[in-house]
Formats: sequence, structure tokens, C-alpha cells
Amino acid sequence: MTNWTQAQTPGTPPQSNAITDVACPFCGLVCDDLELALDENGLRVTKNGCAKAVAGFERQVDGAKPQVDGRDVDLATAIKAATELIRASSLPLYGGLGTDVDGIRAVMALADKSGGVVDHALSEGQYRNFHVLQTRGWVMSTLTETRNRADVIVVLSSDLHKLHPRFFERIINVEQSLFSETPAKRTVYFVGKGLDQSAVKGPRIGDVITLPCDLDRVGEVVAALAAEVRGTPVAADTVAGVPAADIRALASRCQSAAYPVFVWAPVSFDFPNADLVVSTISDLVKDLNVKGRAAGLSLGGNEGATSAGAVASWQSGYPLRVSFASGKPDYDFMRYAIPRMLADGEGDLLVWLASFSPDLGPPATRVPTVVLGTPGLKLPSPPKVFIPVGTPGADHAGRIIRVDNVVALPLRDLGRSSLPKASDIFAAIELAL
Ligand code: SF4
Repeated sequence: MTNWTQAQTPGTPPQSNAITDVACPFCGLVCDDLELALDENGLRVTKNGCAKAVAGFERQVDGAKPQVDGRDVDLATAIKAATELIRASSLPLYGGLGTDVDGIRAVMALADKSGGVVDHALSEGQYRNFHVLQTRGWVMSTLTETRNRADVIVVLSSDLHKLHPRFFERIINVEQSLFSETPAKRTVYFVGKGLDQSAVKGPRIGDVITLPCDLDRVGEVVAALAAEVRGTPVAADTVAGVPAADIRALASRCQSAAYPVFVWAPVSFDFPNADLVVSTISDLVKDLNVKGRAAGLSLGGNEGATSAGAVASWQSGYPLRVSFASGKPDYDFMRYAIPRMLADGEGDLLVWLASFSPDLGPPATRVPTVVLGTPGLKLPSPPKVFIPVGTPGADHAGRIIRVDNVVALPLRDLGRSSLPKASDIFAAIELAL
């Protein structure tokens, strides 16, 4: 149920239809301080929303109907058609997975029963991290720990402001910390050319320093930085176009800092062998922890990706890219990558779920497709079955796991529409199989 309260914004008249302390599901930060209002025109973000949140909450979703072969049908008919396709499939592929905890739990149960493969649309980025975590381990921070402890922030080749528009506002430029009401300013480094620094301003921001390398050469700079920290500096005047003296100065600053944090978004590391860069960052952080303290902070988690990885792990033992075709969970991060499987003609049905952003449309494919999607979802061609579903946190309640994997936040039913929950649709299909 929607929890209506009076707005408490000082200096502004209270709005009788204000909804306060709303958690936003439209990126992995899951900011939980938004204010919205609902009227006959739909939801409006009235406080603390970024452009991504406004686009997500204020979309018009009324009027979408379930369809089979492009024709409007009732929901029961669409569920029956989807069930028949899944029953007839020998290897259904469950992709997209833009959903909340309940949604991904329902997908896992259905994939288990139907012998399918499970993979999230943003897995490729996540696997740049998972591979390092699985093979080497790492030392990572959380949003809260970074907000309260970090004195040096090193942003690595990632346009954080574009991907997570309130990261600098909510985590870096906060006036107070747990430990001081007047904490010291922070030094922010950007490794990489052309990264948006427009939000890096305010009372907590000290020096802002750029080491301008091409974005796909960040690994060279991080490797040189790690070599400096280990006391074996590279013998070169520049590394990836960055003066060696600047890398030396960054190494020295990290070694003298109380808690430097290295931040990246895996989706931005879209170049060959990017997992090796994550591995080098991880080794650098470990080396800094020999004499001091340091941590990494990986952002991402958009489109429910963190929830998908977490639920897949606790239900199957593996972080996505799991096949149930043999009757038990079988994990292979290359073999069960749905984009590769489709390209190689594997799988005979694609079941796609995208309940947050209309941009998370399914790939073009020759196999028949069942889509559970937010209205307006971009589709390369009409699917066999389309079932419009609600967005968790706008159209129905739910839970979502924040990008740092330490908090599951409740999402509220804001009353935007009466669209069904994807988890209910999948549960109905599972029951009917
Ligand atoms: S930064 Fe992300 S979670 Fe926060 S309001 Fe914007 S889209 Fe929502």
C-alpha cells in the first residue's frame, strides 16, 4: 500500500499527496531520500531526484495490453501462450532479468523447473569483477564506509556522474561524517580523459586532479601506480600519456592517506582483457593494505543486476550464467552467456524480463521470444508473447539489493499503475507447467 505523508520540506507548503523517503530503483545506488507526488497526471519527482529518476518514475505506463502474435489478449491468454512455449522448449533462455529480488527468485524457480539457462543483460560487465573475486579475492568498501571514511577518491576510467548521477552528491560531497561534524576536504583524482567532473564541487571537495589517459589505457596507469607502491617504479617518463611524476605523486598521496578508495564501474571497462585491470586494481589495494588501509568500490547494479547476481548465488551457488538443463545447477560463465548462445544457435526460446528501463530491450534473435516488460520497452521485432509488467518501487512493492551488496532496500508501491508483478506472472507459469 502507498504510504502517504505530508511533505516536510522547510519553506515550502506541504503537499497533501507527497510521498517521502522513497527508494529509487533506477540505478544501483538505490537512493532512499526521494520525494514524489501522485496526481491525475501520474508520479512527479519533487525532491532529490536526478534525471534518471525523473525519467523512470514519471514515465506514462497506462494502457499497455498483453499481446500474443501482436494481437491484444487478456492476461490469462498471454500466460497460457507463454506457458505453452516454455513447455515446448528444450532449452529456454531466461535473459534481461531487470527485476527485483522477488522477480529473480521467480525466474530461478521457473528456470529450474523448465531446465533453462539464467543470465542478466549486464552480466558481461559484472563478470569483469566476478572473475577476480572468484579467483583472487579483493578488499572492497561500501557506499557508507566510503562516505564516512574516505579522504582520497580515485575514479578509474568511469563516467560515474552519467551512470550514477547522485554518487558525488550522496557519497563524496557530504558535509558531515559519522566521525566529525566538520570533516576534512577530500582529494578526488580522475584517471582518464573526458570524464564528467561537473558534480565534483562543494564544501567537502578539495583538490580535483586529472591524470588524462585514453579510457582503455587505464590499466597501464594502474599498473604503473601499483609498481610505485611496491617500490619498483617503471622506467619511463610517461605511461599512457600520463607523466610518470604525476603517477608517483598519486602513489605517494595514496600511501599517506587514511583511506583511499579506488572507484570504477565495470560497464565502463568495455575493452579487451578488462578483468586484468580489475585484477591489477585489486592487487594495488592489497599492497596498500600492507602498511595502511585502502579499498576498492565497484559501482554498477543498474537494472537490478546486483539483486540478480545475489539471488542466483544464494539459490544455485553461482552468480548467474547457470543452466538447469541437466536437472541441477551447472555453471560456466562463457558457455552460458546468453548473447553467445544466441549467436551460436543454442537455445530455442528467449524469455526476456525488463521491468525498469524501456532501453533494456531483448536482442534481435531468430528464436521465438516471450517478453515481460515495462510498457514502451524497445523491441527489435514483435515477440510471440508480450506481457506488460509493473516496475518494482513504482507500480508495486518489492526489494532490491544495493550495488555494494550489503543492503536490501524495500521498494514501495507508489500507486502509479495496476500492472502485474513479474514474479506473479512467472509463478503462474511455473504452476501451470
Ligand atoms: S542516482 Fe540512481 S538511485 Fe539515485 S536518484 Fe538517481 S537514478 Fe535513482
